[in-house]
Amino acid sequence: MAEKQLDDLFFDTLKDIYFAERHILKALPKMAKAAVSPDLKAGFEQHQAETEVHVERLEKVFELLGKNPRGKTCDAILGIIEEGKEIMDEFKGTQALDAGLVSAAQAVEHYEMARYGTLATWAKQLGHTEALELFLATLKEEEATDEKLTKLAKSSVNLKAAA
Ligand code: FE
Ligand code: FE
Repeated sequence: MAEKQLDDLFFDTLKDIYFAERHILKALPKMAKAAVSPDLKAGFEQHQAETEVHVERLEKVFELLGKNPRGKTCDAILGIIEEGKEIMDEFKGTQALDAGLVSAAQAVEHYEMARYGTLATWAKQLGHTEALELFLATLKEEEATDEKLTKLAKSSVNLKAAA
């Protein structure tokens, strides 16, 4: 009984992150377009390519579970993306825009890291070994992206905002 409940939770969370990743995939080109710093723009473009793979890995997990890929509305990611849009509108043409874009992107990455960390733990507990490997591969890329964003923020983006 307990195991069945964790299984349901696992599947719900899988649908949540599948919904989230597909929305992130739509938001990233807009963020890349808005970014002023060429490094930040390139970073968004690179992560867009990675995000396409994240979606594919999730589809593979659905397949491993014998289920059709299906998303479940994730209000958290919709809110985070909405906040990013607000920053793009309100800080358009200002020196602070890139700093705002980095902060919005880091909120996205942290949401993903939370979800993939949880999914990896549950996959292990439930014996979904192949799914576990797929989650860990994506988690590593989300963490690397977050670190890259931190470096960008510290090196130039925030300095410009303060100038
Ligand atoms: Fe992702
Ligand atoms: Fe990401």
